[in-house]
Amino acid sequence: MRIASPIEFDRDGRQTGFLRLPYSTHDSAYGFLPIPIACLRNGSGPSLLLLAGNHGDEYEGLSAVMKLIRALDPVRVQGRIICMPAANFPAVMAGRRASPLDGGNLNRCFPGDPGGTPTQQIAHYIEMVLMPLCGFAIDLHSGGSSLQYVPSGVGNMQPGNTPRNDTVIGMLNAFGAPVSFLSDTRRGAEESFASAAIRQGVVSIGTEAGGGGGASRAAVAIVERGVRQVLHHLGIVVDPGLGAVPGTRLLDVGGVDYFVFAEGNGVFEPLAEPGDMVEVGQPAAVIHDPATPWAEPQRVAFARDGFVLCRRVQGLASGGDCLFHLGTDR
Ligand SMILES: [Zn+2]
Repeated sequence: MRIASPIEFDRDGRQTGFLRLPYSTHDSAYGFLPIPIACLRNGSGPSLLLLAGNHGDEYEGLSAVMKLIRALDPVRVQGRIICMPAANFPAVMAGRRASPLDGGNLNRCFPGDPGGTPTQQIAHYIEMVLMPLCGFAIDLHSGGSSLQYVPSGVGNMQPGNTPRNDTVIGMLNAFGAPVSFLSDTRRGAEESFASAAIRQGVVSIGTEAGGGGGASRAAVAIVERGVRQVLHHLGIVVDPGLGAVPGTRLLDVGGVDYFVFAEGNGVFEPLAEPGDMVEVGQPAAVIHDPATPWAEPQRVAFARDGFVLCRRVQGLASGGDCLFHLGTDR
């Protein structure tokens, strides 16, 4: 393994610094990529890995984790919080979903490779070094540049593991996003953070906090409060001032019929918005071809009833782009 850490994970207090990922270039022969990391530990208790910047253009979690690192007095911790607020650091600094160095989409790179590209090395470090230190994890995402979500919690169900799945639902209720959706990791990428967490025995939740390539005040507030509520729920930071746990509306996300994709190129006119309830066959979008404005546009419809969790942000769409996805009440 090439990544070196300045953090002593078994030491009490607040430690901050950089994972050093050696990266030798024309401009920096002996240089390294400085990936920020923080550890807040006090005595014994559960350990939680708090990740943002898995995708570099998803900002709600970045703000929330940076603020927590600065504000939380480690004396209040009963256990340990390991924070990576800018996990794919090159992608975060570029404001891009994937790393500009190697094209790496961190959430499609697990379990990574200790001798691979920068993104593969980061994935390997997270799965093989940080996850084994932790019983719990929160991976803060949002819709990024191409999608806008109703602020959502995300849980990945492990088939047959009822105790783990119940703990995930408990964490989602504690996080208290307006909605939370559950998916079955058999349908998801083996290369995701959520699948890595299952491999390493870590109980994890995620978010799709908002998106659109920026962050709203309301979505950042939901993420900040949600993280505090999960830390309280797990007994890692007892926070009596939080009040009652708000709970969440639990939805399922199933197969391909939950998604609407563009089938051609053109101007994307949405006919539904996040938060709407829609029915099977209901028109979802019109795609107008600006090269032949007089031609009949392409029309796409929802393939099932459901709650609109997100829609595409950009005004143009190409064949294969995701325009919407739905959830259904459990
Ligand atoms: Zn993401």
